[in-house]
Amino acid sequence: MKSIKNISFSGKKVFIRVDFNVPFSSSGKISDNSRIVAALPTIKYILSKNGSCILASHLGRPNGKTTELSLKKLVPELERLLDQNVSFVEDCVGEKTEKICSKLDPGQVVLLENLRFYNEETKADYKFAKNLSKLSDIYVNDAYGTTHREHASTATIAQFFTDKCPGLLLEKEINSLKKLMDNPEKPVTAIIGGAKVSSKISVISNMLDVVDNLLIGGGMAYTFIKKKGGSIGDSIFEEERLKDCGKILDVAKTKKVNIFLPSDVIASNKFSNTGTKKVLNIQEIPLGWQGLDIGPDTIDKFKKVIQKSKTILWNGPMGVFEMSSFDKGTHAIAKAVAESTRNGAFSLIGGGDSVAAIKKFNLQDQVSFISTGGGAMLEGLEGKTLPGIKALSE
Ligand code: AMP
Repeated sequence: MKSIKNISFSGKKVFIRVDFNVPFSSSGKISDNSRIVAALPTIKYILSKNGSCILASHLGRPNGKTTELSLKKLVPELERLLDQNVSFVEDCVGEKTEKICSKLDPGQVVLLENLRFYNEETKADYKFAKNLSKLSDIYVNDAYGTTHREHASTATIAQFFTDKCPGLLLEKEINSLKKLMDNPEKPVTAIIGGAKVSSKISVISNMLDVVDNLLIGGGMAYTFIKKKGGSIGDSIFEEERLKDCGKILDVAKTKKVNIFLPSDVIASNKFSNTGTKKVLNIQEIPLGWQGLDIGPDTIDKFKKVIQKSKTILWNGPMGVFEMSSFDKGTHAIAKAVAESTRNGAFSLIGGGDSVAAIKKFNLQDQVSFISTGGGAMLEGLEGKTLPGIKALSE
């Protein structure tokens, strides 16, 4: 795979697949611009090398063309962040689009209309991808969040270019995952939490080949505890995953991976901030009570493992961190990961809610890397080859 640093952009038109799928508030304003901000280093780098940028993204899941999901709405924010003029192109393919792109001068930026206004995009259509490729000399993919999708602009398009590479953001994502998966500094610890074990069975199974320690918290811990014969009261659990949990415990033993399950929990008689709370042994939760956070003994135990780790992956909260009554476990783990990072460990945080959690506790600058891809990150941890990354190497 080529690196962005080894490609000459001078005088070239560059198609950059970005992930500008940003959320909007009810008044129509961008409520979180971090995806745009994340793409800026690549755009600025190419401009600084005298290239011109043709930015392409999807926005939402349109069914045909709608003004509501037009990327035109992003232009003012993009202009503000780049501090330069950005022209909007009303389509992403076709003669008119080709003409506009062919006239681009070095240093200019255009934003194409929503790629998903064409069904061909998600169908990975060959002809549509070929038409997109006609707009530029070089292809750069910086949209990590969609690299697990085999779409026209994320995968099919790459075959039409000799000069293609990941953008600076995607390169960082690839390298961070590599740092964890290939030859990580030991001991390696994965902290896995979140609501459901079913969504992470494949991740956990694959991580058993990588880690020395596996800390399991959050709602998913209760299916393991039930498998081990504990009474979990009304805590969340998945009957149909009992067998998988048993298998994970057995395989971990053969592979000599230490699995740490919670020993105590903060339980409540209500799934709300206003119920009665008590600390209970996780094996002895009575009916009418549910475990909603890890307890103080578990925090201590988990912290000790994290403090000794040299490589750390964290995916999924330890409890219902959105409620202040049940956020202490997740907060303590976030602080332990930050402390370990300060002491030299490499920490990778990814997959949806653990990212939201680390931001809630304002520790996002104290870990090594926060992945921008939810589904893509999970598939990477499952050991799958992502189509968007594979396409750049072919
Ligand atoms: P996931 O998307 O699978 O990572 O799950 C994240 C969600 O799991 C968060 O919204 C948490 O509130 C929820 N969660 C974590 N621990 C528990 C628990 N003990 N019981 C119910 N939900 C939980």
